[in-house]
Amino acid sequence: MKKTDVRKRIQKLREEINYHNHRYYVLDDPVISDSEYDTLLKELEKLEVEYPDLVTPDSPTQRVGGKPLDSFSQVRHKFPMMSLDNTYSKEDLAEFDRRIKEAVGPQAYVIQQKIDGVAVSLRYEDGVFIQGATRGDGTTGDDITQNLRTIQQIPLRLMDGILSRGTLIIRGEAFLLKKEFERLNRERKDQGLEPFANPRNSTAGSLKLLDPAEVARRNLSFLAHTPVRPEAWSGDSLFFLMEAIKASGLPPIPGMCRCEDLESVIRYIEDWEDKRHEVDYAVDGVVVKVDAFSVQAELGSTAKAPRWAVAYKYPAEQVTTRLLDIKLNVSRTGAVNPMAVLEPVRISGTTVSRAGLFNEDEIRRKDLMIGDWVLVEKGGEIIPQVIKSIPERRDGSQLPFKMPERCPVCGSKLVKYEDDVAYRCINTDCPAILKSSLAHFAGRGAADIDGMGQMLIGQLVGEGLVKSIADIYDLTVENLTSLERMGEKSAENILAGIEKSKERSFMRILYGLGIRFVGMTAARALTNRFSSIEALSKASVDEISELEGIGPVTAQSVRDFFDNLQNIELIERLKSAGVNLSKKKTTAESRSQVLSNLTFVFTGTLGVMTRSQAAEEVINRGGKVTSSVSAKTDYVVSGSDPGSKYDKAKDLGVKIISEQDFYKLLESVNGE
Ligand SMILES: [Zn+2]
Repeated sequence: MKKTDVRKRIQKLREEINYHNHRYYVLDDPVISDSEYDTLLKELEKLEVEYPDLVTPDSPTQRVGGKPLDSFSQVRHKFPMMSLDNTYSKEDLAEFDRRIKEAVGPQAYVIQQKIDGVAVSLRYEDGVFIQGATRGDGTTGDDITQNLRTIQQIPLRLMDGILSRGTLIIRGEAFLLKKEFERLNRERKDQGLEPFANPRNSTAGSLKLLDPAEVARRNLSFLAHTPVRPEAWSGDSLFFLMEAIKASGLPPIPGMCRCEDLESVIRYIEDWEDKRHEVDYAVDGVVVKVDAFSVQAELGSTAKAPRWAVAYKYPAEQVTTRLLDIKLNVSRTGAVNPMAVLEPVRISGTTVSRAGLFNEDEIRRKDLMIGDWVLVEKGGEIIPQVIKSIPERRDGSQLPFKMPERCPVCGSKLVKYEDDVAYRCINTDCPAILKSSLAHFAGRGAADIDGMGQMLIGQLVGEGLVKSIADIYDLTVENLTSLERMGEKSAENILAGIEKSKERSFMRILYGLGIRFVGMTAARALTNRFSSIEALSKASVDEISELEGIGPVTAQSVRDFFDNLQNIELIERLKSAGVNLSKKKTTAESRSQVLSNLTFVFTGTLGVMTRSQAAEEVINRGGKVTSSVSAKTDYVVSGSDPGSKYDKAKDLGVKIISEQDFYKLLESVNGE
């Protein structure tokens, strides 16, 4: 191809990709399948590798660019980024409406859902995304351009039109979808890290990360809500400007509405009070703004907030209940975490009977005593949290909580490291740690041993039959039938399950070993690079931390694991039991044959991999992934909460398999 043709082709590909991003992220109405989209993106990437001088910063391939920063530089907001006054009652809203009428006469309002995220400001120059910043103190914020570029909903270049000329400044909310938040917390748990308390905290934490590659993995979302009126825009209506912004490729907060009077504003608010639980992000209120820019300017602002807008917050669904007990949980990493046992109570659609309390300081700060009446709410609509006690309701029967000095399970002295909030049991033989480690090893993403649940593990550890993961492979029918309520038939089934687990992939067994900080993603990276456990056990910290997605802390943790004699013994025993600890040799060719001509569709939430990881596995083996079900679909992989694709597959008679079956299918065809 001639260079001018390459330039043209690159231009064309970028336009097409931007168009499809817009269909997908803004209009929620894709017109091509994910794999067709990937094909376009791959072609563009390939051309840009061949012709690096044609790469421009607004190319859709350049979302995750740049090196990790040492710190953020500061941005002075050209227009101050104010926060809004909050109201909590309809009377306050009526008062707001009255003040507006008095000052400027009756006004139309724009109402938008208030998302519980982090406010950010974007600046476009001639249609190109130039800079993104946090609010900071309202006048000066952090320059987080690199991080915001990783958010797919933020176009790097606007579609051609009136807004793609001159300056466009627009504020919006960065946030995590509920399902991404839950995925993130699952991963953190896998890695032995404290989970985030709510989506807002995790969003704020993600935006502060200095490495954009790490931010990209968080999968943040963005929705726009407040433009600064651009010079090029002659209209006077916020509502119509938001329409134009949508057409330019920036997604506005959905469900936006223009109301002529207070009554319709209140109807909207009441309408959304329940509906807001159905969307996949946390909505904690509604924002009411005067529609006309000229009137906004006339009303102006106070020192703190604009006079033309107000936020109505839904009452946080707080309930009172009894704190029956504070139990101590010993996690797989030995962290001893207090857990509130509550009298079951219904809140935001579910019944809650437990809530994490994190650590002793937190219990003291919230002034909690066992037997207290307490206030409970859901953080970011998801995670139950005890807010505080109600000391006025104490009757003298309450007992103070004190963190014990010894492990509640094995009795060994707890340790608190300097930069760690948790007290830890560091006894490697602690039955509580052993039980969690066994449950992790036997769990679904790991060795997946059929029939080995919490209950059986409890019995095996309790009877002293299993003292390490390797002991699982020495169990006999006699061992198992000696347990209470265990017949010969079930014993044999369990042994068959154990036998089968020996064939799991190296990646899953490695993950199952529960090395600190080694979740599924790290295990995949490690086994992609090192083909056997011997090779991995000889790798240096430097060699390991070179791998993508593995930081120095994880690398050190892997090294420490193999420097521990006990672990070497464990691995020797697993090996002699016949557990798979290396990658079987498969040629790329034999891999690609097995799934070729097969088409997959994913629906619902996957528990172990993300959808894009799962899709990659299929594509690597020559299969195809499409976004909609048709008679040509071979498999529909159904995670939890499957959507309409599930019903459609049923109607069409397409084969539906579970997430677990999917992994088995992958393994059966590649023996990785
Ligand atoms: Zn212990």
